[in-house]
Amino acid sequence: MLRPLTLALALLAAPAAAQDAPAAVSLTRLDCGRATEAWPLNAFDDTGAAANEKKALVGSCYLIRHGSRTLLWDTGIDPATSGDPDGGFILDRTLVSQLEQMGLKPADIEFVGVSHYHYDHVGQAKEFPVSTLLIGKADWDAITHDPPLGNSDPKMFAPWISGGAKMETFTGDKDVFGDRSVVILAMPGHTPGHHALLVRLAGMGPVMLTGDLAHFTANYEREGVPTFNTDRADTLASFDRFKKMAKNVGAKVIIQHEPADVALLPAFPEAAK
Ligand SMILES: [Zn+2]
Repeated sequence: MLRPLTLALALLAAPAAAQDAPAAVSLTRLDCGRATEAWPLNAFDDTGAAANEKKALVGSCYLIRHGSRTLLWDTGIDPATSGDPDGGFILDRTLVSQLEQMGLKPADIEFVGVSHYHYDHVGQAKEFPVSTLLIGKADWDAITHDPPLGNSDPKMFAPWISGGAKMETFTGDKDVFGDRSVVILAMPGHTPGHHALLVRLAGMGPVMLTGDLAHFTANYEREGVPTFNTDRADTLASFDRFKKMAKNVGAKVIIQHEPADVALLPAFPEAAK
C-alpha cells in the first residue's frame, strides 16, 4: 500500500517528468553547392600530402529542429556568385527554396549559426534577417575589422552590421537550446573563431559536423592543415579535441565538404532523428 506522502510525490512527479521530456531533435542536410570541377587539393595540406590529389567538393548546410525551434547551420554561397570561377561552386537551389519545401519561411528560423566567415558558408545568411546570428567572436571581430580580415565580407552580414538584427558571439562552446542536445564547439585554426557542431539525435545517436576542420576524408584522417588556415597549432589542437570527443560520445562524424559523407544522412527532405 502506498503511504499518502509517497502517493503525493508520485502525483507531483508525473507532470514534472512530462515537462522535462527532451525535445525531439532532427537533422536535415540541405544542398549548399557543388564544385564546378575537381579541384587540385595541394593547398589543403601544407605538408604536400595532397599534392597529387583532385576532388570535386560539395557544400552542405543543415537544418536542426528542436521541438518547434530551429537552427540553420551554415548558409552556403551567395547565389549571385554561382558558377563564378573564383569561388568554384555552383548553387543549384537556394536555402530559402529548400526550406519552403519543408514548410518553413525565413522568419521561422530562430538561429542562423555559421561555422566560420568564409564565402561558401555565409553567402545566404542575409536572407534570414529576423534570425539570431550565432558566430564565434574572433570571426566576428575579423569581419568587422577595418579593413576586414581573412577575405571576410561584411556585406554578407548586412542585417547584423547595419540593420540591428539580433546576434550572439561566443569564445568557447555554445549550447544552442540549453539542454546540451545541440552544441556549437570551439574548433579554432581554420579561422580564429571557427566552430563545429554536435547534434544529439535520439535514434541515430550523436552526430558531429566538422565545419571546415577538414574538407575531405583523407585530410581528416591525416590531419592535413590547409596553407590558408589562420593558425596551424590551433588547427592541430582542434583535430585532437574533435577526434577525442567523437570517440568519447560515440559520434558519427560528417565532413561537410566531403561528397561521400552526403549519404551518411537521409536524402533531402528527409531528416535524421
Ligand atoms: Zn568551406
